Amino acid sequence: MAAPEGRRGLMARVAVWRGGTEVTLEAVALPEPGPGETLVEIDLATVCGSDHHTVSGRRPGACPSVLGHEGVGRIVGTGQRVVWGVTVSCGTCDRCLRGLTAKCRSLRKLGHEAYQVAWPLSGTYATHVLLPAGTAVVPVPDTLTDAVAAPAGCATATVMAALERAGSLRGRRVLVVGAGMLGLTAIAAAADAAAAEVVVSDVVPARLELASEFGATSTLSAGQGIGPVDVAMDFSGAAPAIEAALGALDVGGSLVLVGSVSPGPAISVDPESIVRGWRSVSGVHNYERRHLEQAVAFLADSDRPWAELVEEPVGLDRVGDVLTRELGRPRSSVRPRED
Ligand SMILES: [Zn+2]
Ligand SMILES: [Zn+2]
Repeated sequence: MAAPEGRRGLMARVAVWRGGTEVTLEAVALPEPGPGETLVEIDLATVCGSDHHTVSGRRPGACPSVLGHEGVGRIVGTGQRVVWGVTVSCGTCDRCLRGLTAKCRSLRKLGHEAYQVAWPLSGTYATHVLLPAGTAVVPVPDTLTDAVAAPAGCATATVMAALERAGSLRGRRVLVVGAGMLGLTAIAAAADAAAAEVVVSDVVPARLELASEFGATSTLSAGQGIGPVDVAMDFSGAAPAIEAALGALDVGGSLVLVGSVSPGPAISVDPESIVRGWRSVSGVHNYERRHLEQAVAFLADSDRPWAELVEEPVGLDRVGDVLTRELGRPRSSVRPRED
């Protein structure tokens, strides 16, 4: 594509998803960031599950596009190491003004927009990303390695939003449904928040193996009965698992739904049990700046084996491979620089 004269004539490289398994490598002129914009050189991008779902067709996505929204890098010009939010919000619409920037009326999302001249550096499977004004940018302490910091911008921050929705977990019996990247993060956060019990369920027994290292007090595989819990958080998006979680809520309990981000079957809800039991059901999608700040602080304080959740990085030329193949660990990763 034609591009204007870039920053000192330098070029960025981007992996452009063109549908199915096709990913092409392209060069884009490095822009001079405008007011409020931040140009970041990416050190490591991690591959969120939603990108797998986009490529497999389970989830609608703009195409062609530069996918990838989790990453860590350094601001061009200052060298400050940062992570960034997945949403770009206007700051002036009614939702932004009431504090729900995650659902801005003119929301754009990193790694979700059509590949176009106006914003070609819009995803993290690239040497550089241009963060528009209205993107949360948060410094990362040197103690956090790239593999630990990169998921902060989607997985960890989303879990921080879910925990805020759930309320205090101190002394509570907590159920985490789904032991992927978000579930394991929620387990660790619930344990840190002094939950009395952290029960985790997953239909894939192998995914439960890591759960105890992240603070789970017990694990359940498919079909095992769940005892009463005070808080349940669903990261699976699977209707039967959500129904089971709802059925496990004790009086006063709350269910926070996070995983249902693609179309699926409806579930049945007995309103009388909600009313008589003072139960609540809520949802969380995207997150606010404070949740990204909490995510970085949480990871910086945590001694869980986060790096074990991330596969060894591949180069930009292998983005197509990692998008279409599920690897053993919850996150594959891409190191875009060629050095
Ligand atoms: Zn994500
Ligand atoms: Zn807005």
